[in-house]
Amino acid sequence: MKTAELFEHKTVFSLEVFPPKPDTDEKVIYDTLNALSDISPDFISVTYGAGGGKNGLKTIQIASDIQNRYGVESVAHLPCTGLTRAQAAAILDSLQAHGIENVLALRGDRREDSAETGDFCHASDLISFIKEHYDFNIIAACYPEVHPESISAVDDLKWLRHKVECGADHLITQLFLDNRYFMEFREKACIAGIDVPIEAGIMPVTNKRQIERMVKLCGVQLPKKFVRVLEKYEHNETALRDAGIAYAIDQITDLIAEGVDGIHLYTMNNPYVAQKIFEAVESLISVSCCTAR
Ligand code: FAD
Repeated sequence: MKTAELFEHKTVFSLEVFPPKPDTDEKVIYDTLNALSDISPDFISVTYGAGGGKNGLKTIQIASDIQNRYGVESVAHLPCTGLTRAQAAAILDSLQAHGIENVLALRGDRREDSAETGDFCHASDLISFIKEHYDFNIIAACYPEVHPESISAVDDLKWLRHKVECGADHLITQLFLDNRYFMEFREKACIAGIDVPIEAGIMPVTNKRQIERMVKLCGVQLPKKFVRVLEKYEHNETALRDAGIAYAIDQITDLIAEGVDGIHLYTMNNPYVAQKIFEAVESLISVSCCTAR
């Protein structure tokens, strides 16, 4: 099923996983998927390391297993930086052969030390390429706090609309910790004529190193309330995990009340955290599917 169709019926609840690192036992990801598929999410997406390489094969295999072994709709991420058209086509052909219908088309992060190669400058180029040659449902990324490379919020929104005009059917946001950024972004996107579903990307923060990395990489603002939680519990692993879960539940509860199209949970391959959050918001999702649409 194409993910864009899911939004016609309900508030979507989806999950994201990443392939195991090369030195990790493959079994771990399948234990994770076993637990995550019990939640019956609307779909599970699988990240892909930019620049291609062997890790991409794992993305395809895991996305295929999610779809064909666990019976959950799957989405394969595909960052295009460094790829030629022929390489992109080979990956897309393989996804198609595995029966995967959904691709999250991305540019990927540019490494400062590498000269740009490949046939695609931006995600929009990959989206146009997919639209021209394939029948995938296309998802794209968006940034409530503006992409770090953008010269302005207006410019970022202009290019986001371009991605939708090129063929993106559904958007997923970068993580944010203050819902006000999402609400303002959603309103501006609507004014800009962006009319595809926008899922809110929520990352339950369960360790300090993880959030420090995210802040550096994505330019996400830390609200005072969040910093207080972090400072109070940073030396107690269990308390910080539970506080991170509670914070994410609070964010999701508020977003559902505001009529969000969907929640995309960055699980960090932690099924315990995903299960706890799902249990807490399951009834809210089913109520909103009966009333909000
Ligand atoms: P683009 O849409 O190309 O945007 C990048 C910048 O260029 C923005 O500032 C934008 O305003 C501007 N821009 C866009 N189009 C144009 C244009 N046509 N002309 C001029 N300027 C333009 N990375 C991975 O490597 N693997 C993953 O699996 C992965 N998954 C992700 C999932 C989600 C939900 C999100 C939000 C991000 C993910 N990323 C992933 C990170 C992503 O690759 C980076 O954020 C990257 O820096 C930008 O990707 P993009 O697709 O948004 O790029």
